[in-house]
Amino acid sequence: VVVVGGGYGGTIAAKYIRMMDKSIEVVLIERNDHFVSCPFSNLYIGGLIPDLMHPDHQVRQARANHGIKVVQAEVTGSTRRPSWSRPPRATIRYDRLVVSPGIDFRLEEIKGYDAAAGDHAARMEGRPADRAAAQAAGSHEAGGTVVMSIPLAPFRCPPGPYERASMIAMYLKQHKPKSKIVMLDANPDIVSKKGLFLKGWKKHYEGIIDYRAAKKVTEVDAGKKTVLIEGLEDVRATWSTSSRRSAPA
Ligand SMILES: Cc1cc2nc3c(=O)[nH]c(=O)nc-3n(C[C@H](O)[C@H](O)[C@H](O)COP(=O)(O)OP(=O)(O)OC[C@H]3O[C@@H](n4cnc5c(N)ncnc54)[C@H](O)[C@@H]3O)c2cc1C
Repeated sequence: VVVVGGGYGGTIAAKYIRMMDKSIEVVLIERNDHFVSCPFSNLYIGGLIPDLMHPDHQVRQARANHGIKVVQAEVTGSTRRPSWSRPPRATIRYDRLVVSPGIDFRLEEIKGYDAAAGDHAARMEGRPADRAAAQAAGSHEAGGTVVMSIPLAPFRCPPGPYERASMIAMYLKQHKPKSKIVMLDANPDIVSKKGLFLKGWKKHYEGIIDYRAAKKVTEVDAGKKTVLIEGLEDVRATWSTSSRRSAPA
């Protein structure tokens, strides 16, 4: 069995196939040399854990314990019949194929976003760069504003953006008390665990989290550090972030 994608989906599929029948050879193909856990990345971005090595180590261990063969490579296509290819391309033959590549960002949904990303805008994937960016939000002068855009549901993790905002607010409260985070949510209301988030924000982040429903960001101007809502309303940021929308990888 060949499994494409070594996230939670692919790794767990590979593990259970091996648990059910040890005679089946399972080859897992993953393009990255490390595993990123989305849930743990919240703690990482908030600075509550020093790095993401713990989940990475656990996943490596699980793969090794179950005799899963791991190939680090990018899968570019699949056919029902094996075909010939030349180095650096290679063909791996399968009897059964599991495709678990996850989802990716839809960068095209926010005009100008590419130009802003990497400078003072981040995608919040949970990479070291994202934590650095989240913390950079607090390194602006006191009173700086972080803007977060939340796309229309469905997206990867319904509570995800609200969890991320809470992490950033916690950081701002500790390190830049006069800064705030403006959440521009394309949805008519908080998508998940509304009562829980509102209670937590009131208790811990009053005046730091400014949540605005039904505000779809359509454009970002990296030069002016503003985002545009539906082509009508400008919101100024010292830093901005965007959450992941469901899309094929
Ligand atoms: C902030 C946040 C918090 C979350 N919290 C929770 C939680 O508490 N509980 C919970 O159950 N879920 C949570 N989720 C959701 C959960 O993390 C995802 O549902 C899960 O990670 C999806 O796993 P996946 O394997 O489908 O995709 P991914 O984790 O995206 O894995 C896909 C893998 O495939 C690889 N890949 C893609 N294309 C190729 C290719 N062509 N060749 C080779 N490799 C490729 C990628 O590199 C990647 O490693 C959270 C998500 C977020 C964003």
